[in-house]
Amino acid sequence: MKSGNKKVLVSGASIAGPTLAFWLAKYGFDVTVIERSKSLRLGGQNLDIRGAGRSITRLMGLEDEILAANTGEIGLQFVNKNNQVEAAFPIDGANGFTSEAEILRGDLVNILYNATKKKVKYVFGIHITAIDQGDDRVTTTFNDGRIDIFDLLIAAEGVRSTTRYLLFGDEPEIKFVGLYNAWYTIPKNDTDTKWARWYTAPGSRVMVIRPDNQGTVRASFSFLSDNLSYQNLSNSEQKKVLKEKLSGAGWEENRLMKEVEKNDDVYFDGVSQVHAPRWFNGRAGMIGDAAYCPTPLTGMGTTLAIVGAYLLAGELSRHEKHKDAFAAYEERMRPFVNNVQKLPPGVPWLAHPKSKFGVKVVNTMAGILASRPARKISKLFASKDEDPTKDKIDLPDFTSQ
Ligand SMILES: Cc1cc2nc3c(=O)[nH]c(=O)nc-3n(C[C@H](O)[C@H](O)[C@H](O)COP(=O)(O)OP(=O)(O)OC[C@H]3O[C@@H](n4cnc5c(N)ncnc54)[C@H](O)[C@@H]3O)c2cc1C
Repeated sequence: MKSGNKKVLVSGASIAGPTLAFWLAKYGFDVTVIERSKSLRLGGQNLDIRGAGRSITRLMGLEDEILAANTGEIGLQFVNKNNQVEAAFPIDGANGFTSEAEILRGDLVNILYNATKKKVKYVFGIHITAIDQGDDRVTTTFNDGRIDIFDLLIAAEGVRSTTRYLLFGDEPEIKFVGLYNAWYTIPKNDTDTKWARWYTAPGSRVMVIRPDNQGTVRASFSFLSDNLSYQNLSNSEQKKVLKEKLSGAGWEENRLMKEVEKNDDVYFDGVSQVHAPRWFNGRAGMIGDAAYCPTPLTGMGTTLAIVGAYLLAGELSRHEKHKDAFAAYEERMRPFVNNVQKLPPGVPWLAHPKSKFGVKVVNTMAGILASRPARKISKLFASKDEDPTKDKIDLPDFTSQ
């Protein structure tokens, strides 16, 4: 691989795919990125880029652009059903609920695309339907009937990756954590401020409304449920479930309900982790959420995607054989992934209490924590023993080899 100039197919143009493409192109690889959608998917709420992820964006020369695209959120308020503030956690460094590098998902996807589009070939509206591997090549068939040959194939297709299935079948475990989440963009109104507002409703439901930098706001609604079938619903069926679940929640229930109906950009999914015993099969593999989604509950999915892409490209650039590069990458990445994927005991149940009394307990606890000097929101739903080095990994400098 070392000599570069090899042909690599990356499938998925969100965070992990374009970051991998950036570094591979820098090392001289000939990279094609395909995306199933007809254009970039720019929906979603704020993403956090933390620790090593942020260092990598600095190495890419993109940190300033990312910071400039900040959503302007100044912290998190817990509110009650009358929108009165029960607790407030102002932004406090890189690792609070509101991080310093808080960016809309769509802005980050655009920044990564713009940073790569001149050196990388992008093809939209296609996906892989079959893979045939030989010792020295990967042959891929696409949904439009085209066939192409590559030296390597890497899927960066997110938690519902279909190429992962072609490569590994049912081997990876998609572990549903019992929580559903819907994200969508809605018009701003009088109650919105520069604070993110978090409302806990009885019936194991949480609504969050966060400011953005585009004159709209980003709403999310999550609820606990063991019903696996919600994951396979059509858009209109999803909306029906969301409206049923929102019903009786209080606070801005009517607003969120009305906007669910009107919105074409509702991203609704069961919150799941991906646990895969292997990330590679021959000359093909996977990175990002497709390989090791930790869930948004960790706030680390984007950081894992960026770190994984940087490490994989780096190892490919310095090993002759792809097998050695894959092994070296896995050795660095596995412990980091295992650490990040550990959900603290009680998550997501503690944040989604069933009774009115439970809601009171959450708000009271938040108030107590917010009144203390440390004001660490992360302590509210986390175990005492949570590893403070969770988002730390040593990054080798591949650029100086
Ligand atoms: C539309 C959308 C909205 C999101 N909103 C949020 C949010 O609000 N908050 C949050 O924490 N996380 C959100 N996420 C997830 C978040 O982007 C990821 O957890 C994280 O950034 C890791 O990114 P990734 O590149 O590994 O995967 P993803 O960001 O999931 O990207 C996967 C990409 O691959 C494409 N793709 C899927 N299947 C195929 C295929 N077969 N062939 C080719 N391309 C394919 C998808 O269209 C997508 O562009 C969202 C993801 C998407 C796709």
